[in-house]
Amino acid sequence: MNLHTLSIANVNKFARIPFRALHTTQSKLQKITEQNTPKLRQEFVEKLKSGPDFGDFIANKHSEIIVGENLDGKSRLPSWLKTQIPKGKNMVSIKKSLRKLDLTTVCEEARCPNLNECWGGGEHNTATATIMIMGDTCTRGCRFCSVKTSKTPNPLDQNEPEKVAQALAAWGLDYVVITSVDRDDLPDYGANHFTKTVNEVKLRNPKLMIECLTPDFLGNPELISMVANSGLDVFAHNLETVEPLQRYVRDYRANYKQSLKVLTIAKNSNPRLITKTSLMLGVGENDEQIHQTLVDLRKHNVDVVTFGQYARPTKKHMKVFEYVHPSKFDYWHKVATDMGFLYVASGPLVRSSYKAAEFFIKNVLEKRKISNPA
Ligand code: SF4
Repeated sequence: MNLHTLSIANVNKFARIPFRALHTTQSKLQKITEQNTPKLRQEFVEKLKSGPDFGDFIANKHSEIIVGENLDGKSRLPSWLKTQIPKGKNMVSIKKSLRKLDLTTVCEEARCPNLNECWGGGEHNTATATIMIMGDTCTRGCRFCSVKTSKTPNPLDQNEPEKVAQALAAWGLDYVVITSVDRDDLPDYGANHFTKTVNEVKLRNPKLMIECLTPDFLGNPELISMVANSGLDVFAHNLETVEPLQRYVRDYRANYKQSLKVLTIAKNSNPRLITKTSLMLGVGENDEQIHQTLVDLRKHNVDVVTFGQYARPTKKHMKVFEYVHPSKFDYWHKVATDMGFLYVASGPLVRSSYKAAEFFIKNVLEKRKISNPA
């Protein structure tokens, strides 16, 4: 599974300082005091002074989401990677219902800057959201992803498929993305739970368009085929990066060929599906490698590709190699479109489920209408 939507950095960095970091800070302070080095102490005090105070933390004053980090720790981030915290009425009602049903969305977990536009419908009035199922703890550990990891996550909530269906029926969305953590601890890697969730959602709301952003189910054809035939409209599985960087970026159990196989099995077992994948740029890839990836995706009949900028969630995750300029995203948009993809989304803030419905309703379905007029 890809949650590279989660790569967007935290807004409230103070609320997320891990205990270990606090402990380290205390130890540093103690050391400084013990050694009685006035210069170091002065520097430390200045650092603290220049940061936010406790009042800022309580008031949650930060209005700007900083995506990623400075490459050299000093220079300012490129202007195209700064955005505002989303606000809006629609968000409040969706949030209330989420809390009531104890559900999680990637949009909120990642503090996604596109949240208001997606949940509120944006300029084309197509409201979308991304629901995360099977818990908040993954059995894998990709180097770009901030989801918690454990070999033994909590058991599945057997009522979750109904809860998700209930919430989605109430929200009146047009398009939903259902994604999950990887559950290598389960005999079927969660494929039955995924399938049941889609069945329940379609049962209550047959018109809702469903995209599933799935794990790789370790390449098991039966399981992939079961999910592909669960009633979903779009089968998404992310390659994340080019082939030579797979081992560096993703968990050792994931790989390029396996992910291409997942997309191929899904398409072959249900040819009416739209297949989709996403790539992060800025992790060290070069143009030739990206081009080769697009060639491979076309060979495997993948319909939709998206490109977004990788942003480091915390200092423990892999570094950003490069902030790719928006003009380069435009370039890849053109290259991929010319290669025949049904739809391409490419931009620094594009996430795998960014304005997903707009992709399909406005572009893919319109194209289909043109080629198959009633
Ligand atoms: S760590 Fe888990 S949730 Fe995160 S990208 Fe990897 S497989 Fe997906």
